[in-house]
Amino acid sequence: MVPLATDSRHSIESARRALAARLQAAGIEEPGLDARLLVGAAVELDLTAMVTQAARRLTPDEAARLEGYAQRRLAHEPVARILGAREFWGLPFRLSEATLVPRPDTETVVELALEIFREFRVSGRRPRIADIGTGSGAILLALLHEIPEAFGVGTDVSLTALNTARDNAATLGLSGRAAFVACSYAAALQGPFDLIVSNPPYIPSAEIPKLNIEVREHDPHLALDGGNDGYDAYRILIPQAAELLAAGGALIVEAGQGQARNIETLMGAAALSVDRPAKADLGGILRAVSARKMPP
Ligand code: SAM
Ligand code: GLN
Repeated sequence: MVPLATDSRHSIESARRALAARLQAAGIEEPGLDARLLVGAAVELDLTAMVTQAARRLTPDEAARLEGYAQRRLAHEPVARILGAREFWGLPFRLSEATLVPRPDTETVVELALEIFREFRVSGRRPRIADIGTGSGAILLALLHEIPEAFGVGTDVSLTALNTARDNAATLGLSGRAAFVACSYAAALQGPFDLIVSNPPYIPSAEIPKLNIEVREHDPHLALDGGNDGYDAYRILIPQAAELLAAGGALIVEAGQGQARNIETLMGAAALSVDRPAKADLGGILRAVSARKMPP
């Protein structure tokens, strides 16, 4: 029989192993990693301290807290939601019910934006970046962290998400270079921008009920739902971005699986130049799609 994680006779190490076994038995995808993160949060220790204190017994409070986390994870709530936090680009981000959990795949958008940015020089003024549908602020704040001379603005229709993004900017020491604006896509922005980035909602509406329970019951549908064919957001934001880009500036967007080619077509139709191939994520999916605004 698998021992219960609530048992305060458990040591940190045996609690971790017991929880991993319960999560595995329940078919949770990464039981070992999840158990380590949840035990670490319950005992408020980082990985190193968990190793050096492996034999220490849980206090009754810690055991109760851990069992609460375990029940939530067994009901398929993602670890990031339970902890209210997730790392992106090696930086800590707080989450709220209105923000998508930032995905490792989205780091491909940051990588491509940096590759493009490093090829062109913005002279005479500070580089300006816009992130459309900023959520937790993940993409914008990662870019501002990497480009210390840049100024950025993030938009969202969710005021709760914008508050979370603003808090994340403060925690990362980026408040002085980041502004957050409530509007639909880029409607309230004034250019010119050197980089415009976006991970918009792109799941076709009818696909949402078929997503993993972790996503469909815990990520906000406003962050996922791309309309009938999944392209509603791109149809609006690509022409807006074409207007707002500086000559030579670039638009970089995230694509869902199989969407890259159609997004490139929409970019071309907005008179943007698709001058480099889409960049694949670690799973081999073409994830980041870009186009430039050519000088007149
Ligand atoms: N950029 C974040 C990231 O990559 O983790 C969040 C991306 S999430 C897929 C899409 C975001 O777009 C959500 O935060 C959602 O609230 C926002 N959004 C949805 N419709 C919008 C609209 N009409 N205008 C602006 N933002 C919108
Ligand atoms: N990548 C997310 C998922 O697969 C979707 C995010 C989005 O719609 N932009 O669940």
